[in-house]
Parts: sequence; structure tokens; C-alpha cells
Amino acid sequence: MRHVAVIGSGPAGYYSAEALQKIYGADVHVDVIDRMPVPYGLIRFGVAPDHQSIKAVYKRYEKVALSDNVRFVGNVTVGKDVAIDELQQLYDAVILATGAPLDRPIGIPGEELAGVVGSAAFVGWYNGHPDFADLAPRLDTTSAVVIGNGNVALDVARILSKTAHEFEGSDIVFGALEALQASAIRDIHVLGRRGPHQIAMTPKELGELGHLERAAPRVDPADFPPVEEDSALDPGLRKSVTILREFAANPPAGDKPKTIDFDFFAKPVRIEGDGKVERVIVERTKLDADGRATGTGETYAIECGLVVSCIGYRTPPIDGVPYDFDHGRFANDEGRIGDGLYCVGWARRGPTGTIGTNRPDGAAIADLIHADFGTAVSRNAGRPGLDRLLDERGVDVVTFRDWQKIEAAEAERARDGSPREKFTHVEEMLQALGLSRTT
Ligand code: NAP
Repeated sequence: MRHVAVIGSGPAGYYSAEALQKIYGADVHVDVIDRMPVPYGLIRFGVAPDHQSIKAVYKRYEKVALSDNVRFVGNVTVGKDVAIDELQQLYDAVILATGAPLDRPIGIPGEELAGVVGSAAFVGWYNGHPDFADLAPRLDTTSAVVIGNGNVALDVARILSKTAHEFEGSDIVFGALEALQASAIRDIHVLGRRGPHQIAMTPKELGELGHLERAAPRVDPADFPPVEEDSALDPGLRKSVTILREFAANPPAGDKPKTIDFDFFAKPVRIEGDGKVERVIVERTKLDADGRATGTGETYAIECGLVVSCIGYRTPPIDGVPYDFDHGRFANDEGRIGDGLYCVGWARRGPTGTIGTNRPDGAAIADLIHADFGTAVSRNAGRPGLDRLLDERGVDVVTFRDWQKIEAAEAERARDGSPREKFTHVEEMLQALGLSRTT
């Protein structure tokens, strides 16, 4: 029997568990440990609430979670309830699948002002992440700036734009929906420090902005290189650029109250305001020979009361685990951190790729563990050892069956047409199980 602990119950965690099952069959016990009492990480807290078809991938993880040799161990914080070296003593392998839930700082003056939030916090807020449930972003402003040209920037611009009707069928939390509907935001500026050919936006997500009920995208035709140059782009990017060109050719007709402006070659250099954000100072850029953005010295101001930076994420460091500060992830060699310690997904390679990218990642880490462990016989205590330790420490472990009770309670609270009304605080989740927070 092999004993494996996976820290993190998001896509990378469950794909790793699934791959281990495939290799070892019944000869492995996998404990998927999460600090939240609810599973699925990014699927629950990161994927946009109006993208339910993407969230449906949880059904695959549920199948793994319900199998005999995989166990969900929720409400357990590694580093607080149990130390990483304790887990290493209990299990043959420990896999860090902790994702990248922290915002990267922008690194410009003024980012500490009220009204400046990172996308991890903002997305977490509307998705009911307990860490951000009380964020209360500033929405009593007519103008917002979204920094970044990736899919998260698109998610944020879209969520700021949609009507209540367009959120039907989503699982956006009610408090966020109410706040967004009461928001005064009319102008949303999406800032890209480079140009249309350098965006990291995928066609489906970009195309959605062309079909919003009360918002229309605006793109300056002057920002594009000659159309012949599009043919050199990868097919996906070419499709996205074609969509942007369509937006540029069809400027807003004035029949929609909100505008999503794409400001290309626009690098934020400073955020100004008296205690709270009032404007972003932006420097116009051009591309250097290597395709990097260089400042031209010409600046302009965008008056706004909300800034959401969507410029990528970092993995939280864990005491005693080697960390790559340049890339904001664990220091690792193809997923191996040290003896019996591994990382996978965003914690291994940084916040890139789709949810599906984590599947081959999980398979690769399971292969690596298999190769490292060989035919050695396990002498570790595994599950019973962890249970003993957590019991001694009085930790209220939440099992997968418990999670199903929380899920049923959320479904009962659902608004019309929505699949669930999420609990947004850990205490509420535990109360649904008749537990109070003791950890
Ligand atoms: P991303 O795709 O890496 O995009 C980050 C953007 O931020 C880039 O445009 C980057 O510009 C810009 N940026 C970085 N540092 C900056 C700075 N200091 N100032 C101004 N701009 C800066 O990251 P993401 O949007 O957070 O997405 C993370 C991953 O999740 C991606 O793989 C994404 O595709 C995926 N995702 C997918 C979906 C979906 O499929 N529906 C939804 C959300 C996220 P440069 O290119 O110039 O560096």
C-alpha cells in the first residue's frame, strides 16, 4: 500500500489523485487535504460564476473523491493544524497542489490606496471565497480600470457589465450580485501594456463581450498592425485578434449604457488619490525589438474609483519548502521539490494554461512518484496516523460526505434558476454540519 497526501483539492489535486489511482489501483490511499471545508479550489472560487459549463468538470473530481481509496480531508490547514514535515513522516509522498491564490503586486506607487484590488480578491469576492467575502469593493464610482490583457481581465470586465438577467443560472453569490447591480460603473478601461497581437485572451471569452445586454466594447483601429501580419499568429490568437478587429470596426452605437474600452500600449505607472483611488496615470508604450513594452514618456490620466489588477498570481510559500521568488511558485525540478515532496499544477509551473492542462500535469507527477518509489515497501502510517494526530489536536475534519451535506444546504438556499447559494464564511459551512469552528 502507498500512502499519498495531496495538499489542495482543486483541479491539480484531483487529477493527481486520479492518476495515482490509475497506476496503483487499490494499492494506494490518497488523502486530499484542504484548508476549506469545501472541495474543488479554483473550480468553486476562481472560475467565473457565469461559466457553469466550465465548472461542470467538478463531476469528474467528485467521481474520484467518492472512490474507496481517495479521501477528502477538509478544514485542515497545513502549517497550522499539521506541519509539512509531519505529513512527510506519515506519507510516502506529499504533493503540493495549492494553486496560486495570491495576487501579484503591480509594483507601482499608489497600489495600497483604497479602491485598488487584485483579481484574486475581486474574483474571490463574487465567487464567495471566505477570505474575501467581506471585501466590499468600491462600486460607487462611474469608472473602473482593469489592468491586464488575459482571460481574468475579461472575466472581471464582463462581471462588472452584466445585468441580473444575464447572471441567471450562475452561482454568483447574492451579496455580490446585489452590489454589482447597484453599481454606478459605466466606463470600464481594460489596460494592456502591449498591443492587440500580444493579448493572452482566448476567442470564446473575448467574443462574449460583443453580446452583452448593456455594455459594448470599444477598440481603437489605430492600435492594430497591418492586417497581413495577423497571418503569422497562432490560430487561437489570430481568432482573438479578428474579434478585436470586429470590435474596432463596430464602435458602440450609443444604445448601451456601459462601455468596455480597450486601452492598448498603456502601462499604468502610478495610482493617485487622497486616501482612495481617484485616477490611474498611464504611460503610452511601444514595442521594442524583443516584443517588450517600453515607455514613450507620454502619459495620460484615467479618472476612476476602482482598479482591479489582473496581472497574474503567486503560490503561497510554506515554511521549510524551497520557494522560487522570481516566479512565485515552489522551487522544483519537473515537480520534484525534495525527497518525497512534490508539486503540481500552478504551484509547480505558475498560473498558466487551462484547467485541462492540469490533467497531464497530474499524470506526470504520479509517474514521477511511481518511478521514485519503485518497489520499496511503505513503512509509513498514512491515514490512521493523520487521523490520530488531528484528533489529538481537536481539529474538526470535514469529510466528503460532510461536504455533500453542505452542498445540499447550499442547493436548498438557491435563488430561482441558480444551482446554489454558496456559504461565504467557514463558520456558516461548519454550522451547516452542526459544528462550530474549533481550529
Ligand atoms: P495571464 O493570461 O498571464 O495574463 C496576465 C496579463 O497581465 C498579461 O496581459 C500581462 O501582460 C499583464 N501584466 C502582467 N504584469 C503586468 C504589469 N505589471 N502591468 C500591466 N500588465 C501586466 O493571466 P490571467 O489573466 O491571470 O490568467 C491566468 C490563467 O488562467 C491563464 O492561463 C488564463 O488563460 C486562465 N484563465 C482561463 C479562463 C477561461 O478559459 N475562461 C478564465 C480565466 C483565466 P504581458 O503579456 O505584457 O506580460
